[in-house]
Amino acid sequence: MDEQTKQFQRIRQVVRGKLLVDEPLSKHTYFRIGGPADYYFCPKDLEDLSAIVDYCQREDVAQFIIGNGSNLLVSDEGYRGVVIDLSETFTHIHSKGYVVTVGAGVQLKTLLHYCTERGLSGLEHLVGIPAQIGGALNLNAGAYGGEIYQHVQSIHLLDKYATLELRKREDITAGYRETDLPSDSIVIEAQFLLAEGNPKEMEALQEMHMKERRDKQPLSLPSAGSVFKRPPGDYAGRLIEEAGCKGFRIGDAMVSKKHANFIVNCHLASARDVLRLIDEIKQRVFNRFDIMLELEIHLIGFKEK
Ligand SMILES: Cc1cc2nc3c(=O)[nH]c(=O)nc-3n(C[C@H](O)[C@H](O)[C@H](O)COP(=O)(O)OP(=O)(O)OC[C@H]3O[C@@H](n4cnc5c(N)ncnc54)[C@H](O)[C@@H]3O)c2cc1C
Repeated sequence: MDEQTKQFQRIRQVVRGKLLVDEPLSKHTYFRIGGPADYYFCPKDLEDLSAIVDYCQREDVAQFIIGNGSNLLVSDEGYRGVVIDLSETFTHIHSKGYVVTVGAGVQLKTLLHYCTERGLSGLEHLVGIPAQIGGALNLNAGAYGGEIYQHVQSIHLLDKYATLELRKREDITAGYRETDLPSDSIVIEAQFLLAEGNPKEMEALQEMHMKERRDKQPLSLPSAGSVFKRPPGDYAGRLIEEAGCKGFRIGDAMVSKKHANFIVNCHLASARDVLRLIDEIKQRVFNRFDIMLELEIHLIGFKEK
């Protein structure tokens, strides 16, 4: 029996949820790119999640928590360890007054729908971000002048020792596409404090933002959204376009002709194609403007970088 099969059996003994071996991560990323994860696990409940976290800590096995995979570039070699997916379990939403409690596995789209129906306003700017709540909270997703942390009241986290912790908003630093949540902690649930809104007006605002997205973003091809962060006082898309990169292609990875800060997967792009394209863009922008662009997307399963 090989080592992976033995490990699978050991994990199987401590967890109850769905456990897959060599699961292609291309099935779980918006880019449709990424090699296999040794193990892909969907916990049945909090106890089951705690069990896998505890196992990984005890056995020194790497763990990675995946949301919708909409901000990830996963290597062609995949991930050596356990990828944990909360989307089948932590899917509760309920509200009391203006406070909405939502599980980390809930789709942002579902939360927006829930809030709009009830006239609970605040998150409308985030419409169109293809995130799960946990993913959006991990990196403070934002759009059109709004960021998710503007409305967070508190968050429940599970740390790497499988201990549950409640963090109040004032104890979290949230900046531009980043937070100081420990990298190995898992968001389980969040409370949002929203305000009274008019459902019709909320819908109209969301429709307006969706139209802007459809007009400006290449939504018909796989991507991971904006590849680079906005440099201070400028836009990565403008710099990339002016550096002559629009439409530039390596293999099946191409700088979108519609929005230069998006790299699209034209058909069967590899992570290697995307990385080479990223390096080329950075170099051309640096040569032209003396600005080193910083990645917004997260790289998973790469040895260096
Ligand atoms: C077409 C398109 C448009 C986009 N537009 C925007 C935009 O306007 N604004 C914006 O901010 N982003 C945008 N994005 C990027 C992306 O959707 C966001 O960054 C989103 O918040 C990522 O959420 P996710 O659930 O897909 O997380 P993933 O991509 O799966 O993961 C991102 C990070 O979050 C971590 N994570 C996921 N779940 C949890 C959890 N429960 N606990 C702890 N950590 C967790 C992961 O480990 C990883 O480090 C866009 C992407 C696409 C494809």
